Amino acid sequence: MVTISAALLAILACPVPECHGDLVQRDERLVCERCGRRYRIEESWPVLIPEEAELPGSSQAGCVPSP
Ligand SMILES: [Zn+2]
Repeated sequence: MVTISAALLAILACPVPECHGDLVQRDERLVCERCGRRYRIEESWPVLIPEEAELPGSSQAGCVPSP
């Protein structure tokens, strides 16, 4: 299993401008403790792209509700 080092996790933050929460690793994902978005990890590197994150309570990636 891929493990993101504690040193790297310490400097990473949620990329969502209004969030910037701390990230924790859960299995093969980095999870934002504030907004709950889940970021996948590819090649030992987290994909910190809000549009590609999985929203909490949803299995769809990058789902943005339209007005
Ligand atoms: Zn967040």
